[in-house]
Amino acid sequence: MSRSKQVLEILELHGHPVVLAKRDMARPCKCRSELKQEALCNQCLGTGFKVKLTKLQAYKKRNNQGAMPDTRKEQDAGAEDVRSYLFYVAGAVDAGSGDIIVERANGIYTTHIISTSDHAQDGQEVVYTAIYTKRRSV
Ligand SMILES: [Zn+2]
Repeated sequence: MSRSKQVLEILELHGHPVVLAKRDMARPCKCRSELKQEALCNQCLGTGFKVKLTKLQAYKKRNNQGAMPDTRKEQDAGAEDVRSYLFYVAGAVDAGSGDIIVERANGIYTTHIISTSDHAQDGQEVVYTAIYTKRRSV
């Protein structure tokens, strides 16, 4: 079995569906010209640009690299998730800094702001993409 096929099987078994919101930097959202909280905009999900949505199957894990230990303050933040995550998705996915991953759990949407992503290759083939998110989600 190829490594790509193995990754797909693992994601199918252990992953969950997410949506990648990729910003179109050439198309600013109209909320930018209005006096309103960008984070509340449904059109751009607070990114300030039109977004292209792609459904992906992802495996998520805590990104402990460089993370601060959990503190009282973080717990008090309530629903706000201040942790950093690593999402694995199959194949070559173009996810840049400032793009967003949206998760839905129990009817609640969580958006994770992407900080960076890496392609893992096997020879010429990109097997999976590792997407790192910033420590602050909304
Ligand atoms: Zn907007």
